[in-house]
Amino acid sequence: MIPFNKPYLTGKEAHYLYQAVYSGKISGNGVYTKQCQQFFEEKYGFKKCLLTTSCTDALEMCAILANIQPDDEVIVPSYTFVSTALAFVRQGAKIVFADSEANNPNIDAGKIEALITLRTKAIMPVHYAGIACDMDRIMALSEKYNLLVIEDAAQAVDSFYKNKSLGSIGHLSAFSFHETKNIISGEGGMLVVNDERFIKRAEIIWEKGTNRAEFFRGEVNKYGWVDTGSSFLPSEIVAAFLWAQIEHLENIQNRRKSLWNIYYEGLKPLADKGLFRLPKIPEYATNNAHMFYLVCNSLEERTGLIARLKENGILAVFHYLSLHSSEFYKDRHDGRELPNCDRFADSLVRLPMFYELEEKEVEKIIFLIIDFYKKTMQVL
Ligand SMILES: *Cc1c(COP(=O)(O)O)cnc(C)c1O
Repeated sequence: MIPFNKPYLTGKEAHYLYQAVYSGKISGNGVYTKQCQQFFEEKYGFKKCLLTTSCTDALEMCAILANIQPDDEVIVPSYTFVSTALAFVRQGAKIVFADSEANNPNIDAGKIEALITLRTKAIMPVHYAGIACDMDRIMALSEKYNLLVIEDAAQAVDSFYKNKSLGSIGHLSAFSFHETKNIISGEGGMLVVNDERFIKRAEIIWEKGTNRAEFFRGEVNKYGWVDTGSSFLPSEIVAAFLWAQIEHLENIQNRRKSLWNIYYEGLKPLADKGLFRLPKIPEYATNNAHMFYLVCNSLEERTGLIARLKENGILAVFHYLSLHSSEFYKDRHDGRELPNCDRFADSLVRLPMFYELEEKEVEKIIFLIIDFYKKTMQVL
């Protein structure tokens, strides 16, 4: 059986966990937390990083920091994970769903301006598969209409837009270290604050609405309840695990990219014949090999392909069901059709992608895909 994902352990996790546990401080914001945050700030030019218990939590912090009030509008791609929208819905926002580009699941930056109203507070680019959205166009809209840009960079660790790291461009950003992402801590995430106006408040919201962080830096002589917030910070145990992953980031990225390239080269001849489409990486974007996907020509074709792979012990999966037609939100959606989003929801398939996947397994998957188009689709 070739699974869809297998969490990779670098080997040092248990050691750092042990260190954290026996250091005598296992609650949050300790040595490992600071070490991880500092790494990201220095390597990617993020102004301020705060580890969180998930990317969803980091997004909820963004919604609080953006001061979203009931009926404020937030522009979100419909083709994304639930959390991108949910974090803002909990704050009372109305979600205005945007369509994907025709050739790329990312939000179509050219269609955002028409969605902006006097109630719009923020735009949420999601860098799908770690491939950048068209950030210059989105930041230009942000300036023109005075809107916040909050990057859902859950999949985008170590990826870039025109030499700028993803997560460093918007006012706020959120990353995920869920076990399905490139580097992991089981559950885990990180808030990035690039706009200095939000840094102090972010620390308070992070620690249950208290100014505890300031107190521990000696900036105030007592701490107490000063704002809203929650317990968004993870324990040192989570941070210690993440540190072991961070140490191997480069190695992990190289391995994933090499597997990605084998898929790409092996499947390109079929894509050139128009049998399906492969990921398209715009000139302004890098590839962090978060995922390898292909886009079939129809739902039936995708269903057939997934079934064929499964018969051969290979787990390929699809996602996302369009959020604008989800059970939870469809009655609140304004009724606009989002055809590109629906097409990706019906026809995109993700192939196994994880560190320990072997080259010969990738070759086998490629062979089975070619065979499927030959025998079942009879197109080769
Ligand atoms: C994984 C993911 C999330 C959620 O991350 P968690 O850490 O599980 O909360 C949010 N948005 C996108 C685009 C994701 O891929």
